[in-house]
Amino acid sequence: MISEKMQLLAKNGSAIRAMFEESKLMAAKYGKENVYDFSLGNPNTPAPESIRKAAIEILEQTDPVALHGYMSNVGYEDVRDRLAESLNRRFGMDLTRENLIMTVGAAGSLNVALKTILNPGEEVLLQAPYFGEYNNYISSFDGVPVVTPAKLPDFGLNLEAMERLITEKTKAVIINSPNNPTGVIYSETEIRALADLLRRKEAAFGHAIYLISDEPYREIVFGDHTVPYLPRYYENTFVGYSYSKSLSLPGERIGYLVVNPAMEDAAAVIGAAGVANRILGFVNAPSLFQKVIGHCVDEVGDMSLYIRNKEVLYKELTAMGYEMREPEGAFYMFPKALEADDKAFCAAAKRHRILIVPGSTFAGPGYFRLAFCVSEATVDHSLEGFAKLAKEYGK
Ligand code: PLP
Repeated sequence: MISEKMQLLAKNGSAIRAMFEESKLMAAKYGKENVYDFSLGNPNTPAPESIRKAAIEILEQTDPVALHGYMSNVGYEDVRDRLAESLNRRFGMDLTRENLIMTVGAAGSLNVALKTILNPGEEVLLQAPYFGEYNNYISSFDGVPVVTPAKLPDFGLNLEAMERLITEKTKAVIINSPNNPTGVIYSETEIRALADLLRRKEAAFGHAIYLISDEPYREIVFGDHTVPYLPRYYENTFVGYSYSKSLSLPGERIGYLVVNPAMEDAAAVIGAAGVANRILGFVNAPSLFQKVIGHCVDEVGDMSLYIRNKEVLYKELTAMGYEMREPEGAFYMFPKALEADDKAFCAAAKRHRILIVPGSTFAGPGYFRLAFCVSEATVDHSLEGFAKLAKEYGK
């Protein structure tokens, strides 16, 4: 018998994944080039050549028994040393290997952080719209997601709502910047205000409230926007980082978790997080790709495709009458659907062979998410369909 919790999860499935499957069926029917699939955040730009070279070199030059063997649950010491050195240089931090745990992507980092801190019934604040998997991660540890409403119209941090919704039971706040699905980057002013709010609430309730910064899109930034490094602003911060998007390595499952050295009881938290990594069944992050990352710590993939796609789509869709905040980072935009029912709107888009995800999947009804990590041709050839769709709604 499947557990009751899993029965529910399996039934709800993932709307985005379902669309991914549907896209394959549509591609078989109409031809791949005639389907404009903006549903999944799967990078469409190859990993840098240096990654391939490093992987080959490591495979050829390392003793296979050592390379493919178990290591410390928190990851290779030399890799964590190099990462700490890189983060200290880039963000003015004072990290050592002891503050870093190599993880199975950002998903692994978030699960490790949540397992480390959550008692059953404790609440985790999420600001709508947000990456829907957070609900599943939180409920795995019997935590309770509490959703703060979106701040409209710009999707900035809704501090007034957080002020109201943080309670005695609040254990953590997850924020994601650059944001999936809105493309928003929270400003330094917003982060300072959030840190002040959390410190006040910690003092009022007499316990730590952790900030979990989910950062798989940190390197995907447009124009001269910058992404504040949260441990510099708030002591009780975890950072979940991933190479899935910045180096186009989502299938390799590699990332890391930072435990801020300034965190309350940091040494105990780090010890517990290492155990969490093991007993969640990850045991350790993939060994070959830990080593590859160690060779390429400061490498970032070619982001020019995303910059170009964002510019074309923002300009063209806005001219057609779609309304949105211009994305500042990540590879998503979150325009208003042209009717109140976002699911009906996305179904209408499908008739033009355009696959987009209803905003309600991200607790953002009335909008749709468009993932523009696709080929230039997909963007260019989709524009006619977007224009026809807008016309159907009188634009
Ligand atoms: N967090 C956000 C906001 C994401 O969009 C994703 C993936 O799309 C993840 C976490 C998980 O990423 P990873 O592949 O690193 O586990």
